[in-house]
Amino acid sequence: LRAHARPLGLALDGRRLALLVFRDETEVRRVERTRADFLANASHELRTPLASLAGFIETLRGHARDDAGARERFLAIMQAQAERMSRLIADLMSLSRIELNEHIAPSDELDLALCVTDVLDALAPIARERSVALVPTLPARGVARVAGDRDQILQVVQNLVDNAMKYSVAGGSVSVAVEVGATAEAAAAGLRSDSARLSLLTPDHPGGAYAVLRVSDQGAGIAREHLPRLTERFYRVEGQKSGERSGTGLGLAIVKHIANRHRGGLAVESAPGQGTTFTAYFPLLPAAAAAAPARVAKA
Ligand code: ADP
Repeated sequence: LRAHARPLGLALDGRRLALLVFRDETEVRRVERTRADFLANASHELRTPLASLAGFIETLRGHARDDAGARERFLAIMQAQAERMSRLIADLMSLSRIELNEHIAPSDELDLALCVTDVLDALAPIARERSVALVPTLPARGVARVAGDRDQILQVVQNLVDNAMKYSVAGGSVSVAVEVGATAEAAAAGLRSDSARLSLLTPDHPGGAYAVLRVSDQGAGIAREHLPRLTERFYRVEGQKSGERSGTGLGLAIVKHIANRHRGGLAVESAPGQGTTFTAYFPLLPAAAAAAPARVAKA
């Protein structure tokens, strides 16, 4: 709490008056702190692969110069580090783009099931490479309609399916389901009862119906204590194997931001050793509104 005293230049009953202003700066400080933490984290995350690249360049120009085997190995590591930096920068740019447009209501009419089909088609080669089966369960075309920004909805689907594949074991399967009409509570009620469940974002669509995207894997799961922190930027669960593709820790932060912009919700449910289910829900466009003619302006 910050206080300012200012003399008013007025008097009452011979006493001079002053104005005392109190300002609650908790929120301002919190935002400043978050921003500073974010910059520190982002710089650190970018500096690590960069330092590794610089180190390998030095080695390649030095003693590894004439060792063809070492050169191949080091170049492969350098390529992986460069790719990691590009992923980080792409994620940072997505996040800032979404934040900049936070207050513009997404308006395109989209079919969530078609978005899922597009993403699954694009990810099929990666799924094959990792021996993970992608199993869609989708409603008929035109049923799961939402108002949204197409690229952003695609990114939600992609980030959740990408994570499910990344944290799956080879031979596992990832189910990707779209359902319709459930309230947020009913959407949550479909989840298993023996595991930890947490709403990471509550939708701002009171009493409405939803188009629900549910992505389930049979991977290692996430311990209960990590669930509340999953959507923090750069938060990663320590000691988790994610194969050769390391993550940026920004994927779920991006998902949460996008769901928020669309007045939607996000929930996670996980049982260590059994798998994880992420559920994203978006306000469903009423069928009547979807089919209604454009509104006629009043004369
Ligand atoms: P990352 O790029 O590291 O995957 P995310 O923000 O997408 O970043 O996820 C944050 C962390 O949440 C991950 O590092 C991982 O520890 C955990 N996580 C996300 N999805 C899953 C999943 N399907 N199964 C197990 N852990 C997960």
